[in-house]
Amino acid sequence: MRSELAAGLAERAAQGLYRRRRVLESPQGPVVRRDGREFLNFCGNDYLGLANHPEVVRAFALGAERWGAGGGASHLVCGHTAAHHALEEELAVFAGRERALLFSSGYMANLGVIAALTGRGDSVLEDKLNHASLIDGGLLSGARFSRYGHADVASLQEKLAGCGSRRKLVASDGVFSMDGDVAPLPQLAAAARSYGAWLMVDDAHGLGVLGANGGGSLEHLGLGQEDAPILMGTLGKAFGVCGAFVAGCEELIETLIQQARTYIYTTSLPPAVAEATRASLRLAQSEGWRREKLRALVRRFRAGAEALGLELMSSDTPIQPVLVGANEAAVAASERLAEAGVWVAAIRPPTVPAGTARLRVTLSAAHDEAQVDRLLDALAEALRP
Ligand SMILES: *Cc1c(COP(=O)(O)O)cnc(C)c1O
Repeated sequence: MRSELAAGLAERAAQGLYRRRRVLESPQGPVVRRDGREFLNFCGNDYLGLANHPEVVRAFALGAERWGAGGGASHLVCGHTAAHHALEEELAVFAGRERALLFSSGYMANLGVIAALTGRGDSVLEDKLNHASLIDGGLLSGARFSRYGHADVASLQEKLAGCGSRRKLVASDGVFSMDGDVAPLPQLAAAARSYGAWLMVDDAHGLGVLGANGGGSLEHLGLGQEDAPILMGTLGKAFGVCGAFVAGCEELIETLIQQARTYIYTTSLPPAVAEATRASLRLAQSEGWRREKLRALVRRFRAGAEALGLELMSSDTPIQPVLVGANEAAVAASERLAEAGVWVAAIRPPTVPAGTARLRVTLSAAHDEAQVDRLLDALAEALRP
């Protein structure tokens, strides 16, 4: 086994695809510590700066004192506490839906929902740049699986027109995680409706960030439960904790409770995590200044990057990738940034298409303007030909 695996690893390294973990020595924040030194952090998903917020941390600690450390069982056995239940009710109100259901992670939510709702004889249609968990959910469901062109409504319509299945599920990221663009949700909703398909939106990077109240890409575009009947959101990004939820009508949620295997056959999240998330959800809703500050930082970054002639993507969200192209060049640029004390991850295939390796810059409301300017200076230096 060892020699066979070693050969595979060597091949990966030769392609510039070897991945290494960095060991963090501090909490999340705009400045983090690794390898014994401080770095400006521009690669996390803590968009609102809540992962280490004192009120969230206090709710976590109080939650652990009240509920203990572990959930103790799955939700359907004896692991569903009043903390989980209250969070679900608050998430339903936040999302403007009849009900919400907690999952332990976004990955599990996507696998569970797609497999619970579709199977042999059905069809799942997905944007080709969807998150891996949506793609995997579609592949594991046993349904006929196909991908349409990125944000290409005509390509989706063509596939829907040629689809003979009675039950059809269309799934899309709300905000694409490696590009930062927002899906054409009104058009996707209209296409799904006209072919009798169900639209599922994974808004991992939109919730908390987009929309006047942080309601995400759907609020931003003025859409509701009738347009996108299945909403998936994660709690580890803008909300700074962990876990995920699915929100929708009563019948959807009851169906998932009966049939979503990744909901049924797993231990509930620690109740303290639910308490911490309730605190972060309150902050995310009440402190609209975090979204405004984030938007201003995004504008500042884009203006500065354009002035430097960097190749940005068409994104107005806190995900602001700088396109590099070759894998080795992206890694080298990321290393030069690190030498300057700036941490930006190089994202390579298979996470993104071949030839589009990039520096995935992400901004947070916890950053300040001077930090964004330091990032721009470091990028100019690191990408100098
Ligand atoms: C991060 C992410 C997920 C997975 O969520 P986790 O809670 O981290 O498992 C799912 N979908 C998208 C679009 C994501 O960005």
